[in-house]
Amino acid sequence: MTTLNNPSEIARETLRQLAMRRVAPTPDNYRKLYHEIAGTRGDEGEAPEAFLRKLARRLPRDSAERQRHLRQLEQALSDGKPKAAEAALEHYIDGLKLAEQPAWNELIANLLRQWEARQTGWTTARKREALDRVLNAADPATLHSRLQGLLRGWSQASSDEDSRQKEAPATETPAIATEHGTKPVVAPPDAQAAPPVPASTARIAPPPGSETQTAAALRDLLRMSYRQTVPALLTEHPLLQETAVALSAEMDKANLDAGLQQLGERLRAFTREVEIAAADDTEVRAGLLELLRLLLRNIDELVLDDQWLSGQIEMLREVVDTKPDPRKLDDAGRRLKELIFKQSQLKHTLAETQRHLRAMLAGFVDQLARFSESTGSYHDRIGSCAQRIAEANDIAEIGPLLDEVMAETRSIQEEARRSRDELLSARQQASEAEQRIAALQAELEETSRLMRHDQLTGALNRRGLEEMFKTEAARAERRGTRLAVALLDIDHFKKLNDSLGHKAGDDALVHLARIVRQHLRPQDVLARFGGEEFVILLPETTESDAQQALVRLQRELTREFFMADQQKVVITFSAGVTPLGSGEGMESALKRADGAMYQAKQAGRNRVVAVPLPAA
Ligand code: GH3
Ligand code: MG
Ligand code: MG
Repeated sequence: MTTLNNPSEIARETLRQLAMRRVAPTPDNYRKLYHEIAGTRGDEGEAPEAFLRKLARRLPRDSAERQRHLRQLEQALSDGKPKAAEAALEHYIDGLKLAEQPAWNELIANLLRQWEARQTGWTTARKREALDRVLNAADPATLHSRLQGLLRGWSQASSDEDSRQKEAPATETPAIATEHGTKPVVAPPDAQAAPPVPASTARIAPPPGSETQTAAALRDLLRMSYRQTVPALLTEHPLLQETAVALSAEMDKANLDAGLQQLGERLRAFTREVEIAAADDTEVRAGLLELLRLLLRNIDELVLDDQWLSGQIEMLREVVDTKPDPRKLDDAGRRLKELIFKQSQLKHTLAETQRHLRAMLAGFVDQLARFSESTGSYHDRIGSCAQRIAEANDIAEIGPLLDEVMAETRSIQEEARRSRDELLSARQQASEAEQRIAALQAELEETSRLMRHDQLTGALNRRGLEEMFKTEAARAERRGTRLAVALLDIDHFKKLNDSLGHKAGDDALVHLARIVRQHLRPQDVLARFGGEEFVILLPETTESDAQQALVRLQRELTREFFMADQQKVVITFSAGVTPLGSGEGMESALKRADGAMYQAKQAGRNRVVAVPLPAA
């Protein structure tokens, strides 16, 4: 056993051993054990009180509690109260025991993690065998540190596969090594997490050059920030929180060069994950703010039609209530913009229509009133002329009466012509208003078309696709994930149109878009590329997974037919799939997907062909 030179270390170790051996803490026992550990011979004549006083001066007073207990001890010794002195020492020892409690919770969590992780050379059976050996052989006092040694061996095997593969893992780990060698010595509290070491190299204080005080203090600070600060900043990411806490536990024992290097790699990987999560969070926040800004800016622009407004608010509530993710926010923002734009256009169209209809109706009513008034008096006057003609006895009386009739008729004819002219002009005004409305509607449709969604299927249109492509490609680049691009074209669509009509063709397009939306993941992007061609972007997907997803869609389409003219119609498509290259644009990826789709058509349709990136 190594001899300790530092008296305060010897004093501390004496107390530890006393606690471990469950020896009564009498002054005499202290003295014996102290000399045993220090490798010195006790002065048999020395009074136990004097020795105890010396011991009390040397014991660490690194906490208010320890200081208090040692002061009580000194006081009791000065007062000549051995019982009180013994009690004070016992309190001091209890404090030491508490501080020494090994962190079993961390160890068990780590054991579970390492048990499930894959490590080179460590099959589950082998792990069980090693664990059994440690459990059966170790005495309770050393079990914690030996288990830690075992786990360190496993975790090193998992991180450093190449170098580990060359070694024989079962006998190389520190825990197993102690199985064949000397019994490990219990480490002091500060080095509780250190690997068990053979007795010949046992140490209680770090040997010079291993870990300086500054390094140890820095490590403690880092451990504290990973245990407390980092998790507090990651409330939205429970998995990352767990990783941070697990890493902080690993730092306890990271005092070996190899351990540090391996831990460093894991810390860097963790940092990258945190960076990605932080970038996502920033995107979510910016998206939310933009949505709210948009709504607030436009709220007075909206027609306060309750139903419509509640629909918009419902949509926002949905976005806010479910865990916001950048894609959903993007989509909600786009739809909101579109709705606001359409609503304001419709409001203007409606106002215009109402103004014209009101003017037309007013003119028409005026005209009718005047016309019926003049025809009414015409009838009266002609009636009286007819009466007077019937009663006339002399032809000479009839002449002036006929003149009167002619004059009345001329005036009514004039009135009728005027009415007709006015009606014609009213009709012209009406048709002009109609044309203006139609033009406005066409404008509205044109602007909607330029917006991001296809009116028929609700899928993105080309413009929407271009925007989504930019977002998804940037996201994939940032995260280092894959993005698959698929192009699909309905088979023999012309035939379907020709035999069942254009309307059935349109229904088929709507049906296809619905099935795609139902059976792909929410993050997959569907766009109508034109006619009966669709593009699908599949984030975080390899080309072969994307191929399988499209084949699944083909199966769904054969299962879920649609009805046209009381006929069951099954639509099939041919598709090409390809991964997006790093920094590649949409057109070039689509060209490759189109080539693959053409191959699928050539090969007999209703199939999906995947093409990899061309060799660099
Ligand atoms: P293939 O299997 O080789 O793709 O044959 P196909 O008949 O599907 O191919 P083709 O490109 O010759 O025909 C596409 C047809 O799709 C022609 C066009 O009338 C029809 N089409 C394009 N857009 C629409 C649309 O919006 N609605 C309807 N009903 N038909 C459309
Ligand atoms: Mg086509
Ligand atoms: Mg086609």
